[in-house]
Amino acid sequence: MQVIQDKEELKSVLEKQQTDNLAVGFVPTMGALHKGHLSLVEQALTENDIVVVSIFVNPTQFDNKEDLEKYPNTLKEDIELLQTISNNIILFTPTKEGIYDGQITSKTYEFNGLEKVMEGAFRPGHFNGVATIVELLLTTVNPNKAYFGEKDFQQLQIITKLVANKKLPVTIVPCPISREENGLARSSRNERLSKTTRKAAGFIFKTLQTAKRKFGTENVQDIKEWVQHAFAKNTIFEMEYFEITDESTLTPAKKVQSDLKYRAFIAVYADGVRLIDNMPLN
Ligand code: AMP
Repeated sequence: MQVIQDKEELKSVLEKQQTDNLAVGFVPTMGALHKGHLSLVEQALTENDIVVVSIFVNPTQFDNKEDLEKYPNTLKEDIELLQTISNNIILFTPTKEGIYDGQITSKTYEFNGLEKVMEGAFRPGHFNGVATIVELLLTTVNPNKAYFGEKDFQQLQIITKLVANKKLPVTIVPCPISREENGLARSSRNERLSKTTRKAAGFIFKTLQTAKRKFGTENVQDIKEWVQHAFAKNTIFEMEYFEITDESTLTPAKKVQSDLKYRAFIAVYADGVRLIDNMPLN
């Protein structure tokens, strides 16, 4: 497996692939790789000739300094893990200065309100940081397809919009959420949970499943109140938000329309760690 830090070197390696008409898949990550990331890489490997995985902890998308400082860095293990699945991977590990050309700041974007709700409301500046780095990475790698997890469903919708707005020649491929045995969505942040909390965190998934069951028969407001209650009684997890929105605009649902697809979204804190999850409802 090739590990490349310099973006010009990466571009020249990839240009050769592209002149040979080889399909390039791209999986951007912030490292501390787990089975969720690997499921994206594996899907990319089945659909492309070569896969670029990037590992870059993007400072401009962190609204919380402590979260950035505590973000795990496990590059050696990440390389070993990727080596176990394929030789057809190029690992791109840019430096901050290198990928940002020295100017480590976010651009400002608008995504028809997709960026204003949920993660956008609770993490000011987060999606400007995400869009800035994803645009930089996509224009550097210039892949045929780029893979993003539904674990970060709002991010996925925003990136789909970014690609459409900027007319970038790439197909965005959504990938299903990979979960631990108790249903907890896999995340690099799970490593920071105590053993007891991690075990108990199946509660988040179970609550989403119950909300999904209720969605067929109860109104949105009642479901939201039920979830709020369930978390108020729980001493381990503190809920930040629970929202039911339609999937394409992400506007909070009031009355349910039979022709739209809906999804439930949740953010909770446990052991000072922020966890997010979501689930389709119909
Ligand atoms: P991150 O390293 O957290 O920025 O994630 C990199 C990519 O992996 C993003 O597209 C995430 O949505 C995706 N991802 C992270 N965790 C999961 C998971 N549990 N299931 C599916 N995709 C995931």
